[in-house]
Amino acid sequence: MPELPEVESVVRVLRDGVPTLVGLRIVTVNVAWDGVLSDANGDLDVAELEGCGFISVARHGKYLIFHLECPRKPSRDLIIHLRMTGRLFLVPHNEALARHTRLVLMLNNGLALRFDDPRKFGRAWLVDDAATIIGRLGPDALKLDPAEFCARLARHRRQLKPLLLDQSCVAGIGNIYADESLFRAGLHPQAISSELASDEIRRLHSAITSVLEEAVEAQGANIDGVFKAGRFAVSVYGRQGAPCRVCGSEIRKIRVGQRGTHYCPECQVLSPGDVPHPET
Ligand SMILES: [Zn+2]
Repeated sequence: MPELPEVESVVRVLRDGVPTLVGLRIVTVNVAWDGVLSDANGDLDVAELEGCGFISVARHGKYLIFHLECPRKPSRDLIIHLRMTGRLFLVPHNEALARHTRLVLMLNNGLALRFDDPRKFGRAWLVDDAATIIGRLGPDALKLDPAEFCARLARHRRQLKPLLLDQSCVAGIGNIYADESLFRAGLHPQAISSELASDEIRRLHSAITSVLEEAVEAQGANIDGVFKAGRFAVSVYGRQGAPCRVCGSEIRKIRVGQRGTHYCPECQVLSPGDVPHPET
């Protein structure tokens, strides 16, 4: 599943690539699967997108945010979440639709912005204000203020892994980068957030920042074959049974909060007060 670094790679291609999406205008809209696009109420006239121009391309957590200037309303936001298998890219106008194409926005320069998604979990929303969709998210994981992060962790008595995955606490971290950040911080995924010492919280904040920055630089991780350009080298995710690159111990996989979780039993030790769940 694309997480913050993979979504940031999509933003950079569409915003900074040649050609850039910024400044282009939507001519026509082809909705290949009805469920892909809605407004905040689940009801939308797709013609509202026609004539809209792209003002900016941004991201919050795993959500792409396209700020639009539209004929009927001065300002609207197109929000897209790629979820499991969504891909968003520019193609020539006349390129044939793929089997998994869900949405095509024909542009005024001979290109089309296309959304392909085999699993159909990805969604697009056209809203007056991005906050309608992303308002409940916590701060973006790459813009985390250390003091605020500390306060958020102290506020919850939860295991670290599910807390990092909770998008209302911190936005952008998924299964891969939660495991990688906890490994780099030397913290057990089942450690309890409110019991961390201040130096442990600082370590976790710094690990999240450095892991995500490196992953953005590497254009994400090619874990499931969706982000083929991704060059981020994982340390623990998907490496169960392989030796830890720091200490040589065997990387383990357990379930924490219903999610497969990878960690090194030597580098990430639970404190005596933390109660581990049985491994499965
Ligand atoms: Zn280790």
